Parts: sequence; structure tokens; C-alpha cells
Amino acid sequence: MGRIVIAGGGWAGCAAAVRAVKAGHETVLIEKTDMLLGLGNVGGIMRNNGRFTAAEENIAMGAGELFEITDRMSTHVNVDFPGHKHASFYDVTMIEPEVRRYLAGLGVKLRFMCRAVDVITEESTGKEEPRKLKALKVLNGADGNKYEEEIIEGDAFVEATGSAGPMGNCAGHGNGCAMCILRCPAFGPRVSLTAKAGNPDLTGQRPGDLMGAFSGSCKLEKSTLSKTLRKKLKKYGFAVVPLPADLVNRGKLSQKVCQQYALPEFAENIILIDTGQAKLMTSYFNLEQLRSIEGFENVRFSDPYAGGKGNSMRYMAVGERDEFMRAKNISNLFLGGEKSGFFVGHTEAITTGSLAGANAGRAAAGRPLITLPPQLACGDLLSYAAGRLREPDGLFRRFTFAGGEYFERMKKLGLYTTDRELIRKRVEDAGMLDIYNHL
Ligand SMILES: Cc1cc2nc3c(=O)[nH]c(=O)nc-3n(C[C@H](O)[C@H](O)[C@H](O)COP(=O)(O)OP(=O)(O)OC[C@H]3O[C@@H](n4cnc5c(N)ncnc54)[C@H](O)[C@@H]3O)c2cc1C
Repeated sequence: MGRIVIAGGGWAGCAAAVRAVKAGHETVLIEKTDMLLGLGNVGGIMRNNGRFTAAEENIAMGAGELFEITDRMSTHVNVDFPGHKHASFYDVTMIEPEVRRYLAGLGVKLRFMCRAVDVITEESTGKEEPRKLKALKVLNGADGNKYEEEIIEGDAFVEATGSAGPMGNCAGHGNGCAMCILRCPAFGPRVSLTAKAGNPDLTGQRPGDLMGAFSGSCKLEKSTLSKTLRKKLKKYGFAVVPLPADLVNRGKLSQKVCQQYALPEFAENIILIDTGQAKLMTSYFNLEQLRSIEGFENVRFSDPYAGGKGNSMRYMAVGERDEFMRAKNISNLFLGGEKSGFFVGHTEAITTGSLAGANAGRAAAGRPLITLPPQLACGDLLSYAAGRLREPDGLFRRFTFAGGEYFERMKKLGLYTTDRELIRKRVEDAGMLDIYNHL
């Protein structure tokens, strides 16, 4: 069997690693920080709206492992909150070690504080054909400020480095480095490997000729909320606190990534979600103003540290790919998660990462690649997003099963359902039942 090298250990990279290692390949997952899950350490909302359907499709296709973990680590299930139904919230403070143990147990070689900084391509044959990667150049940086260079060879590669940061982008297109979970100052900047391989990055845009989008939520230390608010969060999983008129800022809605939360309720109220931390469903909120609201008098931010001023900037470096998740003009590099399109969410990252990992394994084994058919929401999302990208406003669009234009499309096409039996039947009818385990 071959060797699959995956750069980036967020949900997409983890999903790719599960597929590659289960297909029998030596699987190396390199992650620049000291933790897996990337933005998954500050998210937590699963199974809301169309994400329920997508999670069940993945389970029926044989990629249920990570959903089993997020379900098991959920402290609240089947919650309806404004604009969202049947959501579950996993505990962001507890999930990373669980996933880490699971991947290590499968035999994935986890390399932390190991940052991919360049690609090495095979010698050109002189013919007009896609390039092939031979290795990644990485910097190992566990020891203070010393970095050791290493070349990691592979038969196929997955890039799942996300689209957030680095600091220069947060400073240039946002409100400065807000000190988010990716901790670029300590672990170094994200690197776009597709760009290193010669493919120009696609950069998201937002109204007003601005680039990228603000992450859409920040987290408060739960213990700094009033007792009443904490009780509400524990009991219902969420709390809605009306904002005084002078603190309502509708403008912030269009800056954020998560269009599923760009609803008037999210500007007119403070919406808190219990994900282990208290998730405040707005990009940032001036601390002094926040403390003027009953229940928030002593509050402080836990993510990002500068949540009173700004948040991470995302969608700065998306790569072009085909329906197999293969990077444009590169035969053995596959893309997953936010790297593979303007996708928002853990479920979306697991969906795209699973396909990227499965196809990296197939490419290494010389087997035909697979794609997800449009009869399934997971397949339709991939082709719809790719098509939308070619339209004039393509760089302004974001796609999630949880809301916005893609959830509307799911409903219109009849793809959205919470009927598990029906979802399984659709997967079976599409010839995709347990496809990920047909090796
Ligand atoms: C504050 C916040 C809240 C969110 N809440 C939710 C939510 O509740 N529910 C939901 O579904 N979605 C949520 N999202 C969106 C969701 O987290 C992301 O869309 C998804 O997790 C992205 O996964 P990914 O694997 O593509 O990227 P990332 O999570 O960004 O992972 C990329 C990984 O690659 C690593 N990396 C980068 N460059 C390199 C390199 N050169 N070498 C090695 N490693 C590298 C990074 O350190 C990181 O670990 C939230 C996002 C944010 C920021």
C-alpha cells in the first residue's frame, strides 16, 4: 500500500486520515499547532437543519466514525434555536483528546508542531500533463524558536490547511490578529500548498470591495456569566437575551462567514449556545458594551482573546478542485474542508475531507476515484458550489447545509429530511451504501 501525507489536522484533515488509514495506507497527518481539530475546537454545533441529512448520508456511506464521536460528546441534543432545528452541541473543551486518541488508535502517524511550508514536485516529463507531488517540505518547531527542516515524501497528498489567517490577513482585512485558536504567533502562519504548487488562490470577497469574512462567533468564559444565564444554558442549551436598541448593529451580519446566522434575530439579541464555553453568536462584541447588559457584568472572552474587537479572517486561500476533490492540474493532491471551496462547517469539512482522503488512498493504490452523486445532498453541495464559483458573484458565496442559499436549495430539491431510513435508502439507491469501506 502507499503513503498518504495530509497537511492540516482540522475536521477535514482528520476525516481524510480516517479514510486513508482504514484503506490500509501508511498515513501521516501533519499539524502546525499542538492540537487537532483546528476551528473545531471553538465550534460545536452539529446536525442543525440540513447538516442532519448530510451527517446521516456520510454514516450510510461508511464515514460515520467522526459523527459517532461528535454525537457521543454532545451535551445537548435535538435543540431548536432561532432559525435552526434539531441541533446538537458537542463539548468543545473535551472533544480534541477524544479524536486524537481515536486517530492514534487507528495507527495514523500524528505529527504536531510540524508546518508544511512548500511542495516538491516530480521532474517534468516535458509532456502536457498534470504535475505530480513528490514530497512536502516541513518545519518542525517543537523546540523554542528553532526549526528543523524535513522532507516528507508520499504517494498522494491531502491539503486541509483551512482558510483562516494568517496574522497578515487578519490585520490587513480584519481588525487585527484577535488571537484565535490557531495561534499563528506561536505556531507560524498557514501556508497555501496549492499556491506553492503554482495554482493561484481564490480569495473570498465581502460587500464593499473587502476580502475574506469574519468568523461568526466568539466564546465567553461560562463561569463569568450570571447564575441565571448559566442555569438557562444548562437547561435549554441556549439563551436569547434582547439587546437594547442602541447596541443593535445590523451591519455586522454581512461581514460574517456564517450566513445561516445572518438573521435579524442574531442582530437584535445576544444568542448564547452552550458548547462547553458560552458561544456568543456574533463575530465580536465590545467588552464594555457587553458588560453593560444584565447577566454579563463580569464577562470575559475565552476565544478569540480579543473577541471584544475582532475575529479571525477566513476564505483567504481556497483552491480549485475537480469532482474527485483533486487540485487543479495536480494528479495526486486532494483538497478537503475550507481549502476545497467556500464551505462553512464541521459537517461540510468531514464530508469533503472524507472524499479527499478516500480518493488520495485510491490514487495511491491505482484504483478509480469516486465522486458523490447529486441525488445526495453531499454530492449536490460539491457540484453546486463548484458551479456557483464560475458565476460573477462566485467569490461572495458561502455554502453550508445549515442555512443560507444551499439549505434553501436542499429544501427545494427535496434533499432535506431527518428520516434516517429514507436517507439510507437514498444512499443505497445511489449505489453508495458503505462505499467508503469498499476498498
Ligand atoms: C469561531 C468559529 C465557530 C464555528 N462554529 C461552528 C459550529 O458551531 N459548527 C460548525 O459546523 N462549524 C463551525 N465553524 C466553522 C468550522 O469550524 C469550519 O468550517 C471547519 O471546522 C473547517 O475545518 P477545516 O478542517 O477545513 O479547517 P481548519 O479547522 O481551519 O483546520 C485547518 C488546520 O490546518 C492547520 N494548518 C494550517 N496550515 C498548516 C500548515 N502549513 N501545515 C500544517 N498544518 C497547517 C491548522 O492549524 C488547522 O488545525 C466555526 C468556525 C469558527 C472560526
